[in-house]
Amino acid sequence: MRNILARANREVLEQFAWSRVLLAFDYDGTLAPIVSDPDRALMRATTRRLLRELAKLYPCIAISGRAQRDALRLLRGVGMREIVGNHGMEPWHASDGLAQLVAGWVPLLQERLAGLPGVKVEDKGFSVAVHYRRSRAKKVARSAILEAAGALGDARIIGGKLVVNILPQGAPHKGIALLRERQRLECDTALFVGDDETDEDVFSIHQPGRLLSIRVGRRTSSAADYYITSQRDIDELLRALLVLRQAADLLEPPWGRQRHAT
Ligand SMILES: [Mg+2]
Repeated sequence: MRNILARANREVLEQFAWSRVLLAFDYDGTLAPIVSDPDRALMRATTRRLLRELAKLYPCIAISGRAQRDALRLLRGVGMREIVGNHGMEPWHASDGLAQLVAGWVPLLQERLAGLPGVKVEDKGFSVAVHYRRSRAKKVARSAILEAAGALGDARIIGGKLVVNILPQGAPHKGIALLRERQRLECDTALFVGDDETDEDVFSIHQPGRLLSIRVGRRTSSAADYYITSQRDIDELLRALLVLRQAADLLEPPWGRQRHAT
């Protein structure tokens, strides 16, 4: 894994910035710092301002594990071309069948986890997140959640930062969503930044020269090729992308005129 902000890797960033590139970002832990109350996970004012500028120069999207309407609320006014929710399922793959499957899980999980203080079952319509950030016995909570999730059947279980994500087995994931959006928005390349387990579905797509994957936080077991050291560094990455395209805009833009976000 290499630091994308290191001088030695500037050329890689440059090549992507000057191509017809789609910029895609996870939300929690990537654009916004992780906080104990997910409802208050807001971007820093600097991040929001940079992102808004960036969205005028590049097609930008978010791919979040949050329900789409929830992510829309947090990213309103930024100029994103699409907000993909539920780890890649919304809006394109959000079917009644998946919703029904998940609706059946929620009461079962609530019943099985009722006795665990600090554990919260979040129904996101097309997937479930069981949070245990507020639990005092985190190990106990985690194993109970994994056991309850394992008993559901037809579920894909993905760990995360003090959360267990439960998704319909075989449902489209973040990687599929990114490839679809890249094609739909007529881009040749994509840059994706994420920080957690479900982002590995993107990181593990190996398309050198066409996909640049960046993890927030260095971790050798990750499939991402590049990293930024911490969430704070997202601002520096956004700034670098902005500067690169502003510089190129003085010349004939190689990516052609892109429709600006609304
Ligand atoms: Mg995240």
